[in-house]
Amino acid sequence: MNPQLFSQSDAAAFAQTGAKEFRYNRDLRITPAARDTLTEAGIKLVFDPEATPPALPARAAGSPSDEALFRSPEAEKLKREICDIGRRIWAREYCDGNGGNISCRLGPDRFLVTPTGVSKGFMTPDMISLVDGKGNQLLGSWKRSSEFTTHLAIYESTPEAFSVCHAHPCHAGAFAIKQLPPPGRLIPELEVFVGQVVVAPYETPGSPEVAASIRPLAPKHQSIIMGLHGLICWGKSVEDAYFKMEITDAYCRTCILAQSLPGAASIPCDKMDDLLAIKKSLGLPDNRYDLKPASLCEVDPWETLCGNHGCSSPVTPANPMRDTGPARATLPPEAEKLVQLITDQILASLKK
Ligand SMILES: [Zn+2]
Repeated sequence: MNPQLFSQSDAAAFAQTGAKEFRYNRDLRITPAARDTLTEAGIKLVFDPEATPPALPARAAGSPSDEALFRSPEAEKLKREICDIGRRIWAREYCDGNGGNISCRLGPDRFLVTPTGVSKGFMTPDMISLVDGKGNQLLGSWKRSSEFTTHLAIYESTPEAFSVCHAHPCHAGAFAIKQLPPPGRLIPELEVFVGQVVVAPYETPGSPEVAASIRPLAPKHQSIIMGLHGLICWGKSVEDAYFKMEITDAYCRTCILAQSLPGAASIPCDKMDDLLAIKKSLGLPDNRYDLKPASLCEVDPWETLCGNHGCSSPVTPANPMRDTGPARATLPPEAEKLVQLITDQILASLKK
């Protein structure tokens, strides 16, 4: 006989009876969330192989329509996709321990959510739960991620967000612990497929405050660095949300690597228009479509990366591709004098 599942909602109903002890045998499988609920209610769990199977309280969990939705071929496909993305997140070392969480919309006010306390690289579809728009777990025997409330802030403020992916990739994490947004205009991939990456201030993970910090940023930014924490991205599919994360972390990694190399270049202002035109033609959202080219170039990316922090090696004379800001080269005083002398002579000969 297959063990009967004792879910969180069963546990909540049992706690209502006022009993102080819950005896069970191997015919009953108690979910981790149910175990937590019983323990939190001060109920002692006693395993007794001889116990008669306890009568389960009436199930308060998902309605028949939720059951049908949760077991539908569409839901099963999404659960498998979420597990697949979890494996990719783990394989790329974007999550540590049991960190990270993924969710997607399944219907009006219904979401599929990954479990807490499980490595995202080793999830199976039965671990994914059905959760409503208030964060209540309706179905699924594994306790949903506590950080889903942060995902909800994105779903509430951004109707086009279908899926949310959160993890702790190290390179974006390096920017997170400096609370420094990676500057733009260095690699087209980020400009076209992600857009401006912003940093939300630090708040306690899973708290209402962290949700409040993300909510206003999500409509304009698909990739948000959570200060001193990690990275959260949304997309039009589960894989799309993950791609935002992959592109952002690769970009952050390249920025960090480049800081040890001499020289400085950036995508010229007029070419930024081309990239945004490509992005628009692909139907991708971006908060910079209405900006004038000059305002796209207000920030020198290398000033952001090296300005106050100092890059780890001296830079070479200004790169000819560099289009903004003063040359970063610092020449010895004698060389500066020589440059000035030659410049004066050229100007003098032009005036003749
Ligand atoms: Zn986290």
